[in-house]
Amino acid sequence: MITKLAALAAAGALLFSSPAFGWGREGHQIIGRLATLHLSPKAKTQLTALLNPGETLESITTWADEVRGNRPESATWHYINIPITDNSSWRKYCPDTDCVVSIIPKMERRLSDKSLTRDQRREALFFLVHFIADLHQPMHTGDMGDRGGNDVPTVYNNYAGNLHGTWDTGLILGYKQTDAAMFDRIARPAGFRERRRTAKGGSEQWVWQAHAISRDVAYPNLPKSRPAQLDQAYARAAQPSVELQLRRAGLRTAAVLNRILGK
Ligand SMILES: [Zn+2]
Repeated sequence: MITKLAALAAAGALLFSSPAFGWGREGHQIIGRLATLHLSPKAKTQLTALLNPGETLESITTWADEVRGNRPESATWHYINIPITDNSSWRKYCPDTDCVVSIIPKMERRLSDKSLTRDQRREALFFLVHFIADLHQPMHTGDMGDRGGNDVPTVYNNYAGNLHGTWDTGLILGYKQTDAAMFDRIARPAGFRERRRTAKGGSEQWVWQAHAISRDVAYPNLPKSRPAQLDQAYARAAQPSVELQLRRAGLRTAAVLNRILGK
């Protein structure tokens, strides 16, 4: 059994050659694409001034994962591990080095601060768009003493990984195969009311929506076997939550950027 597990883990390591640090590339890109659609003209102008030629929200959104190795101080900024049994306070689970909930307002302030250099504000922008997205990945907020599902081995679509990575990437790639319209549905236009309703609150409120999905969908539907064999029923049950969180993240990214850069 141990040999079999080790073989599965090795296969998983090969397939997931890059470690899971947040929504995978596909998730981050759809969020970036949707946010771009909802930027105000003023925010767009200021955003363009911070980006280099050829860069877009979609292309810069995974930068924070790419620099994680060179920026050890940023390691804890991508997530918060709140036990799914606790929905009272996030603060005690947020280390002094900051977590995804506390870093978002800090990066908002840096991006707003016109006394900083262009490079400093650029960096704040890159971090900010990434962390708003990460905050919406349920396994970046809910935990059962398993590092947000990183310690739960899973097999989904014939590939061995873990629960955290399955939510980052596996499920999204799975839907992409079976439901090509999903990305278009997530990035569909949003009316004023939906945008206003979705934009309400900030990271301290938004974290609980992701946490609730972790508590109500990601963990309860998990088979007891290890590695947990995640079937299409698991994926189907998760899909509405994944779509909702990607859409919320895109609309909220736009709302935050419009507030800061749209003045
Ligand atoms: Zn991340």
